[in-house]
Amino acid sequence: MSRDSSKTVEEKLPDKKTNTSEWYSRVLQEAGIVDIRYGVKGFIVYMPYGMSIMKRIIQLYEEELEKTGHRPILFPVVIPEANLRKEAEHIKGFEAEVFWITHAGLTKLEERLALRPTSETAIYPLYSLWISSYKDLPLKAYQTVAVYRYETKATRPLIRGREFLWIETHDVFRTAEEALRQTVEDKDIFHRVTYEVLGIPFLHVMRMDFDKFPGAEHTYAFDTLLPDGRVLQIGTTHYLGQKFSRVFEIKFHDIDGSYSYGEQTCFGIGLSRILASLILVHGDNYGLVLPPRVAPIQIVIIPIPKTGFSRERLENYIEEVRSLLEGAGYRVYADLSEKTPGEKFYHYDLLGIPIRIEIGPREVEQNKVSVFRRDKREREIVDLGRLREYIAYLMEDIPETLKRRAREEMEKNIATVGSIDELMELRGSYSLFKTDFCDSEECAEELKTTTGGYEVRGRFLDEKPGEGARCIVCGGEARSRVLVAKAY
Ligand SMILES: [Zn+2]
Repeated sequence: MSRDSSKTVEEKLPDKKTNTSEWYSRVLQEAGIVDIRYGVKGFIVYMPYGMSIMKRIIQLYEEELEKTGHRPILFPVVIPEANLRKEAEHIKGFEAEVFWITHAGLTKLEERLALRPTSETAIYPLYSLWISSYKDLPLKAYQTVAVYRYETKATRPLIRGREFLWIETHDVFRTAEEALRQTVEDKDIFHRVTYEVLGIPFLHVMRMDFDKFPGAEHTYAFDTLLPDGRVLQIGTTHYLGQKFSRVFEIKFHDIDGSYSYGEQTCFGIGLSRILASLILVHGDNYGLVLPPRVAPIQIVIIPIPKTGFSRERLENYIEEVRSLLEGAGYRVYADLSEKTPGEKFYHYDLLGIPIRIEIGPREVEQNKVSVFRRDKREREIVDLGRLREYIAYLMEDIPETLKRRAREEMEKNIATVGSIDELMELRGSYSLFKTDFCDSEECAEELKTTTGGYEVRGRFLDEKPGEGARCIVCGGEARSRVLVAKAY
């Protein structure tokens, strides 16, 4: 048996770049991420491998939230209709997407219950009971739950579903300054996990007024670029001001003895979409490529047996390597099954295992191992005495490489344009456009129609239009420098 065997057990995956959609479906299924055969449109099943990755992603965000003073809560999935209707803009924004419980057993309910599409109206009535003094503030809490939205657009596993997983924070502060500062902290939390650990780059924009979260004063959004050239919103943070606190009576005795309403923020981390982005951004034609921190198995060891060489000696050496690495704190698995090395290579490539160690007679005799890194598909022969040090280096270098590659890919897709003609000319080579805009909803709609789907995603906070700049659509005075892209 040769380690260079190119034998594959199953049909090769389609090319990711030219056939992204088919590649994505095959990887979700063959790597065991989700099963889409549940039988209810928009509802999917997380399989063991997919859920093992998801649990690690959840843990990363929860740890950052706890470090910044957030504490866990868990509210019921049902919201009484009267509460959901209290904030007028909010219900207007969600009404068409709500799933309702109308019956309990054979009895029609007097008041319908909504399955939470988001939890502001579930949580805030209780916040009004929990908060009575400035000493109760800030109150910072989060929950990791599924939410339900009756999506009418075509559903896609993990990207657009009628049930999806997210983390939502709900924070209350004494002052607007503190609340606005929280939206910046939310962005930092999101950056520390999404980009620094998971290697998913994103653009941070403020949604236009006509496109903000129903009931919010401002919405800040995080959009990532998927390989088919469309952007995906993977998180948002909202400054709610006092819009909900006035409706739900979240008020407190202030320092000077007067009564004030709480200043609120909420922050949604789109876990299902983040998993989709992780798969789509880093994967290649061999399958998943996982950053080590979220890989259920970080290192897989594969024996390369040879006729005439003692199987026992080979397996003893593998056990020595395995326990060395496990002792160093890594998640290691030695696959001693009867499958051929070629079949195993194919399988663990597909699962995106960051590091593969191959051990045959040559390695045993020379006290070495072959180390293959999944991200670059490069192999290196390493002395056993140096192995721990080399693996520690890879555990740092692999996420850095994934991050750099993904960032470069996103950056080379950004172009600045001054006219719709220019955008149409460049759309074959770029996916993300920066341009000047007058902020009107009519212009955004016109842009979308004339360009065949390019949307104004929001304004950049750190870039402004130049002196005398004009709106790309109407030619009127530009107020913002915006991101324009096709979106999911
Ligand atoms: Zn305009």
